Amino acid sequence: MSDRIFNFSAGPAVLPEPVLRRAQDALWNVAGSGIGIMEHSHRGKVFDRIHDEAERACRDLAGIPDSYDVLFLQGGASLQFSMVPMNLLPAERTADYLVTGVWAQKAIKEAKLVGKTHVAATGESTHFDRIPRGEEIHWSERPAYAHLTTNNTIYGTQWRTEPAVPAGVPLVADTSSDMYSRPIDIAKYGLIYAGAQKNLGPSGVTLVIIRKDLIGAGPTTLPTMLQYRTHAAERSLYNTPPTFGIFAMGEVFQWIQSEGGLQGMAQRNEAKAKRLYDYLDASEFFRGTAQPDSRSLMNVCFRAPTEDLEEKFIKEATKRGLDGLKGHRSAGGMRASIYNACPPAAVDALVAFMQEFETANRSAAVAAR
Ligand SMILES: *Cc1c(COP(=O)(O)O)cnc(C)c1O
Repeated sequence: MSDRIFNFSAGPAVLPEPVLRRAQDALWNVAGSGIGIMEHSHRGKVFDRIHDEAERACRDLAGIPDSYDVLFLQGGASLQFSMVPMNLLPAERTADYLVTGVWAQKAIKEAKLVGKTHVAATGESTHFDRIPRGEEIHWSERPAYAHLTTNNTIYGTQWRTEPAVPAGVPLVADTSSDMYSRPIDIAKYGLIYAGAQKNLGPSGVTLVIIRKDLIGAGPTTLPTMLQYRTHAAERSLYNTPPTFGIFAMGEVFQWIQSEGGLQGMAQRNEAKAKRLYDYLDASEFFRGTAQPDSRSLMNVCFRAPTEDLEEKFIKEATKRGLDGLKGHRSAGGMRASIYNACPPAAVDALVAFMQEFETANRSAAVAAR
């Protein structure tokens, strides 16, 4: 019997149960060393091996070419909002941003503090309910890089594929909320970053995959900790890395591998999302907020007929062991985050509860009309 409930939190979010069990053991005594994972020196042999294995598993999952470095940094995706322009946006050049939600807005805000930016497309006029179409994207002349948020955690929209970028322009992606939820062609990107706490592990570690020719692009006058070259040269060990986070990420990568790799994740995630969206499309009570062609497989955002009913829904769901369904404060309504580690049974339980709630409250909704 489990004393755990179904967790739909947007992040930090649910982790695979086998990973939690292994982490429990490792906290006490990792790899038979007699010392817990949090207590090992980051310069010792035991951690060295854990670090190597995490990087190896990360590379294997997406077939990351040798022409890319894999870094485990700190400061979250939010620090990457700054590090990217500091390192990749020279004076007199422009960085292009695809503004598809709150996180993309935060990313461009930091770039503006560093240099010139251009909004190549924005979804602001339709409250970020969809991903811009190819013809709506207008790049500046020879941008230093193009920045994309692959999944918009707050509005529940997701790019199906990468937009076409002008030849030679590095594509930089914030993949915080859909990294390794489906196959990804690393070679299409110059730099990929993801805070771990949605799909990859605990908060406190940020995965950065950077093409080697971009590592040395930043000025050497930047603070040492903010230069990619520092972390690349020292293999993320310039200062004390988030050792537990790297361990846990390595375990998550191995779990993904055991579940059929990225292809397996994609199938699992598509099935879960389809179950919810099919129900939403058929419902006369709830409605999904993202345009169908832009729907996220990770964050499913939906509304009930009135805010009172939404409050009631969230409250009753929590009582039924369905937690974390309140939408982000800037979007309102409900959001079910159904990342990699969210079990299909959680989605089944949610849909069953939604059906029940719809039946019980339909008359209240009609009266409110
Ligand atoms: C959660 C999230 C962030 C913020 O990540 P931090 O690690 O808290 O800085 C950035 N981008 C996206 C897409 C997110 O979902």
